[in-house]
Amino acid sequence: MIGVCYLDPSPVEDTFRLLKIPWEWYDPAHTYDVVIARKGGVDAAGAFLVDLSEKDYFAEIARILNEGLPHCHEPVVDILIDELRQILKEHTLLVEIPPVPWGHPYIVALTHDVDITSARERRWVSVGYAVYQCLRKGMVKDAAQILGAKCGVGKDPWNCFEEWMQLEEELGVRSTWFFLPEEGKAGESAPAIRAGYYDLNPGLIKTLTDGGWEVGVHGLDNWRDAGAAREELLRVSGLTGAEAGTRVHWLLFNKDTWKILDEAGYAYDSTIGYNDDVGFRAGTMQPYRPRGCRRLLEVPLITQDGGLFGGKTWNSSDDGGRGTCLRLSEEEAIRRCEEVLAYAKKYGGVVTLLWHQVSMAAPKRWGGFYRMLVERAVEDGAWVVPAREAAHWFTARSDVVLQTKRVPGGIRIQMSGIGPDLPRPEMMIRIHTDAVNIGKIKGDYIEGAGYIDLRFSSQEILVNVNESTSD
Ligand SMILES: [Zn+2]
Repeated sequence: MIGVCYLDPSPVEDTFRLLKIPWEWYDPAHTYDVVIARKGGVDAAGAFLVDLSEKDYFAEIARILNEGLPHCHEPVVDILIDELRQILKEHTLLVEIPPVPWGHPYIVALTHDVDITSARERRWVSVGYAVYQCLRKGMVKDAAQILGAKCGVGKDPWNCFEEWMQLEEELGVRSTWFFLPEEGKAGESAPAIRAGYYDLNPGLIKTLTDGGWEVGVHGLDNWRDAGAAREELLRVSGLTGAEAGTRVHWLLFNKDTWKILDEAGYAYDSTIGYNDDVGFRAGTMQPYRPRGCRRLLEVPLITQDGGLFGGKTWNSSDDGGRGTCLRLSEEEAIRRCEEVLAYAKKYGGVVTLLWHQVSMAAPKRWGGFYRMLVERAVEDGAWVVPAREAAHWFTARSDVVLQTKRVPGGIRIQMSGIGPDLPRPEMMIRIHTDAVNIGKIKGDYIEGAGYIDLRFSSQEILVNVNESTSD
């Protein structure tokens, strides 16, 4: 058993929502294998002490989750959690619910922000700029098509919904669409260029939701104003009849945003990411509950088209001013994406992708790269879903209370805090010991190097363990 002594409960709870293991607040009447505390703060008796005065894991993890980091290229929170995991498993028989479902190597959440739905709706200045970019790249036909569409002639090349739906249908996946809630509105104190020029289209939204796609709010002022947060949510959920998550347009955010979104009733947020980079602004790929939120989950944004390939951004990760994106070649972008996938396979969590609606069209043409990434994920057997499904799964995992008890000949693992319907795909239970130490197991399991994974198919599992190696 693991006992924890720490003055402020929040950082400890933040940490153990990500590292799902049995633990309890230190009670001097109990005996422990491991005590996590400051040296001298408790009488650890015969237990191993993880001395927080040397390294305060809880403070560090909670600070990064709740404040974020600029240009963070490794999942530093997931790495800290793994460091703690490695220490714990040396000194106790560690049982864990990993941040990845049974049967999948990692999770990918697919999302699209809808800033633009046609060339026709755009101002001449942005159409002109796109035409200029097409001509510079030798895309003469595309330039003509965009100009034609602006004048009301021919198919509008910037309305790519059909192509996206077809692409995802072919790959057998679905995604989330974040729509701007109001036409012609830049948002309070934002430059005029932030405005979108389309109305919410009930027919399109119905087509998407009937087809299994998710529709959410691409927030304009919901990040800074409680009234706007409720109104923007209502505009979208009024059409879908479902709960909605949000990603704020331009990724605008401040220290009150999570609380405002939570109180307005958003199911999740997916704004914590970079416009001008790829990486881990929250230090983790795990959806998590930000400080002070009752229900809202943050599904961190990891990789977006604009960050990889874009030119300039209006909201840089450095100071929120104008900044430069990575401007990678396709080869460099593949390498960056492979780094992210490798982290996801190692630490779990969700690789949240953002490809903008219009980016499939000229002059950007970034849809092929998206197809390649999703094809790769599908081939790998990843669980590829809209953001809401990933958020739901992590909420269920977070709600589980995992308890272990030594019984003659083994341990009893109990899961409570979840309803009778276990989430799909199922969670798994990882027992950090060599398979040779484990006796007969009822149910499905697989053996890994130094652990075995059991399919979480009932609320109680009895496992026989060779006691001599269990501590
Ligand atoms: Zn946007």
